[in-house]
Amino acid sequence: MISGSRMSSRAMRAVYVRKFGAVDQMKVEENVAVPKLEDKQVLVKLYASGVNPVDTYIRSGQYGKLPTIPYVPGKDGAGLVDAVGSGATRFKVGDRVFCSQTVRYGTLAEFTAMDEDHVFPLADSLDFAQGAAIGIPYFTAYKALLLKGRAKKGDRVLVHGASGSVGLAAVQLAKAYGMTVVGTAGTAEGLELVSSQGADAVYNHRDSSYMDKLKKNPETKFDVILEMLSNVNLGHDLELMKPKGRTIIIGCRGPVTINPRDMMGPETEVIGCALFSSTPEEWNLIGERVAEGISSGWVKPVINKIYDLHKAGEAHHDVIHSTGAKGKLVVRVQE
Ligand code: NAP
Repeated sequence: MISGSRMSSRAMRAVYVRKFGAVDQMKVEENVAVPKLEDKQVLVKLYASGVNPVDTYIRSGQYGKLPTIPYVPGKDGAGLVDAVGSGATRFKVGDRVFCSQTVRYGTLAEFTAMDEDHVFPLADSLDFAQGAAIGIPYFTAYKALLLKGRAKKGDRVLVHGASGSVGLAAVQLAKAYGMTVVGTAGTAEGLELVSSQGADAVYNHRDSSYMDKLKKNPETKFDVILEMLSNVNLGHDLELMKPKGRTIIIGCRGPVTINPRDMMGPETEVIGCALFSSTPEEWNLIGERVAEGISSGWVKPVINKIYDLHKAGEAHHDVIHSTGAKGKLVVRVQE
């Protein structure tokens, strides 16, 4: 049995209708059926959808596991619970929620059906655009810094690429856990934003001398480095770690040459991190901790720009061809 208000209604969604990588392969459809709800699922009426680089990798056909077409893009979203399946126990109709890692139905749609363990309460203190900015960025930052990086209070952390969605989440998280944080960005606005989120020092990764400045003082090496562009920075990261330090690979857009010898003496580690490889236990733990972070106030997503549903393709372009990140890109799905 399913309880709720709009089970038979029709809705609007963005959908890929032609092969990935083709021009104009996404269109907005109206009057489509609302997704069917299974027992342990929650139907969410979405107001906002978070844009992530992975949406663009899929759209361009350059992603390892491409979904079948027709495909509704968007992995993160926020809105109101509209109906609950009979086996779903955590939510009731009308609850404010955010959701992440949709598999079958994406969030560029007025409704999505989600397994309830991918749906989380959204406090009144955050609006729906901020709710849609939580999922992948905050979950990834938590997993990278605390589960993979094993960072602890007092550690020195470099967030290499701190002005984007994951980077800002990582800065907020690391400060909330009592770490010293150095962040990088590529523009003056980005640097200012990273500082405003609590970073203790900032460097411009487009300034040709920033790496020399970072390497100059051996006292200021890092326990943990969160790396958003490993293909550019990994070789340098190996020289920036303290003995036993960890560099976590979050973002990578190609191959890189490194000197593994840099890791031998200090016995440092380079560790891969993929949110989609999380175990159910990791997923639940991260969900609980991020939900606590909303209540305690350290989860404060910064929204850079909001697009209309018909402009979602522009958002997919902008997230990859950014001239300087300043937080999150979000699509408004409905008023
Ligand atoms: P985003 O919002 O577009 O941010 C990209 C960040 O990379 C910005 O801070 C940007 O800084 C920075 N950057 C640009 N050039 C850089 C350089 N030379 N060195 C260091 N940083 C540089 O993207 P996001 O959502 O935060 O995601 C960041 C990366 O992580 C992407 O590659 C994404 O695909 C990946 N990711 C991976 C996972 C996972 O599970 N492993 C999960 C989420 C995201 P400026 O724009 O200020 O130059």
